Amino acid sequence: MIDLHTHSNFSDGTESPTTLLNKAMAHGIKTLALTDHDTVAGWDEAVAHLRPGLQLVLGSEISCQTHDGISVHMLGLLFDRANPELMEMMANTRENRFTRMSKIIEKLNAAQYEITLDDVLAELSEGATLGRPHLADALVTKGYMKSRDQVFAEILHNDSPFYVSHYSPTPIEAIAKIKAAGGVAVMAHPMSSLRSRVVSPDIFAEYVAAGLDGIEVFHRDHSATNRDLLLAIASELDLVVTGSSDYHGNGKLNQLGENVTEPAEFEKLELRANERRVVTATKK
Ligand code: AMP
Ligand code: ZN
Ligand code: FE
Ligand code: FE
Repeated sequence: MIDLHTHSNFSDGTESPTTLLNKAMAHGIKTLALTDHDTVAGWDEAVAHLRPGLQLVLGSEISCQTHDGISVHMLGLLFDRANPELMEMMANTRENRFTRMSKIIEKLNAAQYEITLDDVLAELSEGATLGRPHLADALVTKGYMKSRDQVFAEILHNDSPFYVSHYSPTPIEAIAKIKAAGGVAVMAHPMSSLRSRVVSPDIFAEYVAAGLDGIEVFHRDHSATNRDLLLAIASELDLVVTGSSDYHGNGKLNQLGENVTEPAEFEKLELRANERRVVTATKK
């Protein structure tokens, strides 16, 4: 099985890269991508703990925003982490996530939630990308809510009055930088039902012109209708079709391998990177 989108505690997943790899092997996954939000900080630990039987696709899920303010997630896979422009773009996003968190906290304080930035940072592993899930965890710790899910459903969803966005590149900028770093760009959950607004289907041709390689079709947030529409778009634009769990440990219901990528599609995708960068235990 090939699972091309997962998170560790280097962003808002709840398990270390080592635990994630072990669980993936136990689930019968043979190819796993580690794609923490806006960072490559978990890569070294994952490579160091890789064992024979599993191959690793290193990547990141890059937060983007269109000019119309629609949030888009772009998976960058198999890129060269020595590329300064791509790394700088991610560092900018991570920094802005702090300012943005303070703004959300101010709004919550005004609504009588007693919560501080330190409370939120206490939920964050060292070196991890900060996100709303950590704020959700802090609200759970403080006893305001029962779970991340409840917090998102009630106060932290994208349409909530507490919502604040953060600086992010446009999808076209992100695609260009991923490609310039030799990687492949796959648009994550393009029609996720959890997002307040999603891009219109006519946008894909523009993204393909910018270098987009694939779209994540098989994802729990996509209905059967979404999947059919995305499959038609992929076939028309010659895009690679991927599927993934978007696993977050126990931070979300998503289970490893619940959606997967076909081997032939992964092969096409890998060939679109400028070098063979899939990591195996013997090669490290
Ligand atoms: P942020 O990147 O800070 O805007 O936060 C978005 C993250 O929150 C995404 O990576 C989602 O995985 C996570 N998220 C969204 N909805 C939920 C939910 N209902 N339960 C847990 N995590 C969620
Ligand atoms: Zn996440
Ligand atoms: Fe995402
Ligand atoms: Fe994700």
